[in-house]
Amino acid sequence: MVVNTCGFIDAAVEESLGAIGEALAKNGKVVVTGCLGAKQDFIKGIHPSVLAVTGPHDTPAVMDAVHAHLPKPHDPYTDLVPSIGVKLTPKHYAYLKISEGCNHRCSFCIIPSMRGDLVSRPVGEVMSEAENLAKSGVKELLVISQDTSAYGVDVKYRTGFWNGRPLKTKMTDLCKALGELGIWVRLHYVYPYPHVDEVIPLMAEGKILPYLDVPFQHASPRILKLMKRPASAEKVLERLRAWRAICPDITVRSTFIAGFPGETEAEFSELLSFLEEAQLDRVGCFAYSPVEGAAANDLPGALPEAVKEERRGRFMELQAKISAEKLKSKIGKTLKIIVDEAGLGRSTADAPEIDGVVHFEGGESSAKPGEFANVLIDRADAHDLFGRLQ
Ligand code: SF4
Repeated sequence: MVVNTCGFIDAAVEESLGAIGEALAKNGKVVVTGCLGAKQDFIKGIHPSVLAVTGPHDTPAVMDAVHAHLPKPHDPYTDLVPSIGVKLTPKHYAYLKISEGCNHRCSFCIIPSMRGDLVSRPVGEVMSEAENLAKSGVKELLVISQDTSAYGVDVKYRTGFWNGRPLKTKMTDLCKALGELGIWVRLHYVYPYPHVDEVIPLMAEGKILPYLDVPFQHASPRILKLMKRPASAEKVLERLRAWRAICPDITVRSTFIAGFPGETEAEFSELLSFLEEAQLDRVGCFAYSPVEGAAANDLPGALPEAVKEERRGRFMELQAKISAEKLKSKIGKTLKIIVDEAGLGRSTADAPEIDGVVHFEGGESSAKPGEFANVLIDRADAHDLFGRLQ
C-alpha cells in the first residue's frame, strides 16, 4: 500500500502516522510518501517496518519502491502506461495537481520549508492530463496545489500551448479551458487574492463548479497579521456578498485555526462573529498545534491545550448550527449528484472525503458509481442530505 502523508500541522502528522499504522496492520507492505516523507528518520523511528519513505512530489521514487517490493511480470501489452497515468482515486474523480510549493510564509506552516517556493506545471501539460482523464471516463476533477490562485506567478503567466492553442499559465485561463472539457471542475486551496473574483462568473455560467475552497484561517486583524495572512475580515465579508450576488449557488468552504498563540477571548469572539456573519457552507477548524519548525511557535502567549480545544469545540458547534440551517434550505429541491457508491453521492457542494454526502433511496441499482443522477431532497442533518432518486 502507498500512504500519502501530510505534515501541515500536528493533527495532520498524527493522522498520517495513524494511517501508516492502519496500513501496516492491514497488509504489512507499506510505502510512505508526501510531505511528512521529508522526515524519513522520524517515520522510521515510529514505524520501522515500512518498506520505503519517499519525499513529497517524488512519483518516480514511489514507483521504484513499489516495483522493488512488488516486481510485476513483463507484459508488452499491459506495460504501456495508460493515458490517464497512475490514478489513486476511484475511477470517476481525479486530483489534478497544477503546482508545487508556495511563496507565502504563513507563520504556522512549514510547507514552504519542505516543498520550496511555487513551481507551476506547464499549462499545456496540465490541460493534456485533464483532457486524458476526461477521455478515460473521469467525471470530476479536483484542482489542487498549495496555492491554486498563484498558478503561473513564478513563470510570469507565461503563454503555453494546448492542442496548438495559446493559453496563459494563469488560474482564470486554466479554469476557462478546464470548463470546456464538459466535466465537473472543483477548485481547492484558493488563497484569497483579489483576482479570485475573476473565476466567480465562470461558476455562474456553469463552466466550473460553484465551489470555492478558500482558507481564511482567522478574522481578527491582529491574529491574521501574526499569521502573516491578508488581514481584513471586512473585505472578506464584502467579497463573499459580491460572490453570492454573481453566483447565488456558490458553496464556500474554508478552514480556520482556533487558539493561535496570544489569541485573546475577545479575538476569538471576533472570529465567532465573523463566522456568524459569513454563513460559510463548509468549514474545518483546527486547534493550533505547534508543528516543529513553524515561526509561530516563537510567539508569546501559547495557550493551554484545554483552551484551544474548548475554542475549537465552540467554533464547530456554531458552524454545525449554520450548516444545519443551510442544508435545511435545500429540502424540497432536486439536486444533481455524482454517484460514489450504491445509495451515496455528492452534490456540487460536496468535495469527496472532506464535505458531506447525499444519501439516496430508490433505484440504487440503476444509479452506478460515476454516473450523474437527480435526487429530490427530503431531509437534512448538520452535514448530510437525504432524498429520493428521481
Ligand atoms: S499559503 Fe498555505 S501552503 Fe502557503 S505558507 Fe500559507 S498555509 Fe502554508
